[in-house]
Amino acid sequence: MSYAYDDSNIFARILRGEIPNKTLLETPHTLAFHDIRPQAPVHVLVIPKGKYVNFDHFAADASDEEIADFTRTAAEVCRMTGVKPGQGGQGYRTIANAGEHGVQEVPHYHLHILGGRVLGPMLKRAE
Ligand code: AMP
Repeated sequence: MSYAYDDSNIFARILRGEIPNKTLLETPHTLAFHDIRPQAPVHVLVIPKGKYVNFDHFAADASDEEIADFTRTAAEVCRMTGVKPGQGGQGYRTIANAGEHGVQEVPHYHLHILGGRVLGPMLKRAE
């Protein structure tokens, strides 16, 4: 299956340096930055630098090196933000929205890392 990637999406523009971001961590294949509208005291977005639209695209088409770099960067974000449970932190939640039913706003794969408060039930029933 082929995935159509829209080069004009806001995270593509961040990666091109066209708009600013609050970077927490940058590696050869991955960027982690603070969400502009945080929904918890810790709300970081982890994105691959490659052109992947969502999780299943990334998981299918990214190289092993990109996947390892992305996963290790996400783990490092958990460490840096102090949310790691059992290691001084009190836990966190990762979310990757995809497509219409996943209510994905930005069509560049990103992992939300949320923490710093009790996050409540996993899902709220849709209206
Ligand atoms: P999603 O609904 O999973 O696509 O989430 C997109 C996220 O990107 C939302 O939490 C937004 O607050 C966040 N966001 C949108 N624009 C920016 C930006 N310029 N810098 C940082 N976060 C952003």
